[in-house]
Amino acid sequence: MQIYETNLDEEKFKPLQSDCSNCSGLCCVALYFSKTEGFPENKAAGKPCLYLQPDYLCKIHESLVDKNMKGCIGYDCYGAGQAVTAMYKGDTWQSSPERAQEIFNVFMIIFQLHQMRWFLMEARVMGHVKTLAPKINALIEENRRYCSCSSTDVLSLDLKHYKKRVNTLLKETSRMVSDRFPRQSSHHAVDYMGRNFKNKSFDGIDFSMHLLIASDFSGCTFSGANFLGTDLRDCCFNGADLSEAVFLTQMQVNAARGDVNTKLPVFLSRPVTWR
Ligand code: SF4
Repeated sequence: MQIYETNLDEEKFKPLQSDCSNCSGLCCVALYFSKTEGFPENKAAGKPCLYLQPDYLCKIHESLVDKNMKGCIGYDCYGAGQAVTAMYKGDTWQSSPERAQEIFNVFMIIFQLHQMRWFLMEARVMGHVKTLAPKINALIEENRRYCSCSSTDVLSLDLKHYKKRVNTLLKETSRMVSDRFPRQSSHHAVDYMGRNFKNKSFDGIDFSMHLLIASDFSGCTFSGANFLGTDLRDCCFNGADLSEAVFLTQMQVNAARGDVNTKLPVFLSRPVTWR
């Protein structure tokens, strides 16, 4: 079943996709890392990674796959890195160390806003939830307003109420999508972790917040399957059709396995490890 509009303009998602060439390496500095999660070292938040160069490029970028740096490969900032770098107009954590903590705090807030906007943009291009369009558009516009505030105003935003409204709307969207498929009452009792489900249909299944770690979904179909907050680390999607999956993110896809035959929604990129 077709979930997304035909001829949708994936360019509209561009501002919410990472552009490391226009970022001051924010994720490689601002975030806490752990070696066990596939980063090169255990590192405190605010400390630059040992491989981050003064020009903000990664010294080992070409060999991240060979070195199995899953954390680095998987991370996606939803375009928050380049947006915050642009907001500070040339001031960076490196050139203005006295502002570094403030820049990191703004990055964390813009990251959350961009992530929510991503889901809202995705909901907006779903063909069967048109009745929700006015509410979705209003929340997207509100989000854009927050993201174009000054850094001082961003820091004083109270996002609790906004987040709650976004979550309510995303749940409503998910419900409308899943109502188009027959009920699968036994689904919630299934333990998906590490199991083999080759060539099955998971159309319309609600995987939201489920742990699917290391399961084999080769050759499966996922039209209308909801992946909001699902843990897909090391899942295998070789030859699977995820092109009509719902609320699937670049970070989830980067953390999973797939191949050249895996179909993805048009607004997601094929991870380098899948080529
Ligand atoms: S290894 Fe490269 S991509 Fe990973 S955190 Fe360090 S600088 Fe960033």
